[in-house]
Amino acid sequence: MQRSQGSLETRSSTGTQTDSMQGQVPRLSKVNLFTLMSLWMEMFPSDKLDRAKKKTQTKKTGLVVVSNMRIIGLHCSSEDLHAGQIAVIKHGSKLKDCDLYFSRKPCSVCLKMIVNAGVNRISYWPSDPEMSLQQEFLEHTSNGDAKLDAKAVERLKSNSRAHVCVLLQPLACYMVQFVEETSLKCDFIQKIEKKQPLFSTGLFYEYRQEKIKEFETRFLISSEDTHKDILRLMGLENLCENPYFVSLRQNMKELVLILATVASSVPNCCDFGFYLSDPQPNSEESQQSLSQEMALHCIIQARLLAYRGEDHKTGVGAVIWAERKFGGVDCDGTGSLYFLGCGYNAFPVGSEYADFPHMDDKQKDREIRKFRYIIHAEQNAITFRCNEINPEEKTMIFVTKCPCDECVPLIKGAGIQQIYAGDVDIGKKKADISYMKFGALTGVRKYTWQQHPQSLLSANQAGDGTKENGV
Ligand SMILES: [Zn+2]
Ligand SMILES: [Zn+2]
Repeated sequence: MQRSQGSLETRSSTGTQTDSMQGQVPRLSKVNLFTLMSLWMEMFPSDKLDRAKKKTQTKKTGLVVVSNMRIIGLHCSSEDLHAGQIAVIKHGSKLKDCDLYFSRKPCSVCLKMIVNAGVNRISYWPSDPEMSLQQEFLEHTSNGDAKLDAKAVERLKSNSRAHVCVLLQPLACYMVQFVEETSLKCDFIQKIEKKQPLFSTGLFYEYRQEKIKEFETRFLISSEDTHKDILRLMGLENLCENPYFVSLRQNMKELVLILATVASSVPNCCDFGFYLSDPQPNSEESQQSLSQEMALHCIIQARLLAYRGEDHKTGVGAVIWAERKFGGVDCDGTGSLYFLGCGYNAFPVGSEYADFPHMDDKQKDREIRKFRYIIHAEQNAITFRCNEINPEEKTMIFVTKCPCDECVPLIKGAGIQQIYAGDVDIGKKKADISYMKFGALTGVRKYTWQQHPQSLLSANQAGDGTKENGV
């Protein structure tokens, strides 16, 4: 590990950071970020699939494809195909040397193809595998297919070049607390607080509690004995011994808590959603925009990315998705949407911690402030995109904060047609960074986080089934 001047460096080349230094915010390690993204992809909204999968033993699985430590694909199982199969269809031989992060240990059908493609590493969340063992334990009538599959997976694993493993890392000190505090301060909660007098932090915690319950049911195994049985069948008997077993479960629990907290920072309640910031009276906008569920899902991806940001004060995340115009719609778990790129705010690639100033505008001397050096989340997402932006297709960027004056023309120039973002900073002019251009931007549809326009007109409209939390 290279040390730079000032010995503030805590990053290693693999992106691991387990200790948070004084005055520095805790960050997610890349491995944990990819793992969280894979869990979140498993929850990609799709009614059709959830109905279909209920009866089968195969569980919906999320997948993140990483090449050179950058995300090049976000996938999840569809009605007909597993996440691993979709990755093979989408990336083909480009999977060679990639790292794959699965929300469940892939089944033998997926694993043989992935191994065959020459991937470097396969990491999976050590809970119930894709071919559910938990269900097999519950159903006494089962034919033992899941156990047979687990054996086949082990055999494929031991004979393959790829490293199949569990890659969870301990979280940085205070990470859970930090995510909680910053979630309450993020643009989305702030906006609800400002506009919705009935909202309180109590409601946030209530909402979060529901999410924690939902996510724990999905991603954890409540019975320790069942968990151990499953780990053994997956060839992880080493993890069944203490202190490893206890710390594994603790680690998993904390990651699920982080995911639930981040998911609660853009709550699907209080009548808030992403609506056109300057609606046209007679347009067909409603058909053109994403469903609220989908928009929330993508903005939460961006919120997760923000916890990898390098700016001390505010992490920002951005993700770009596009909507395929023709064909292939049914194969993919993400429907007609496909991933284009993502990023978070960071100093230029390859720079060391002490290469650039980290001061903000409280520092009087403008020359030693950070602003001229940080690459914004949107800029990284556009630079490191893994697909071209097709002007014929609808391309959307999801950002956790209002895009600044440096980014607005970039987004438009890149041909991105829709922006989903927070707008708390809109119109603000700070010493080194301004948000004046977003409001005046035309030719790009701007969906900002706000109260449902209809509910503003008739505050107490009855019969709206989407309302939650009694607001
Ligand atoms: Zn599979
Ligand atoms: Zn910017």
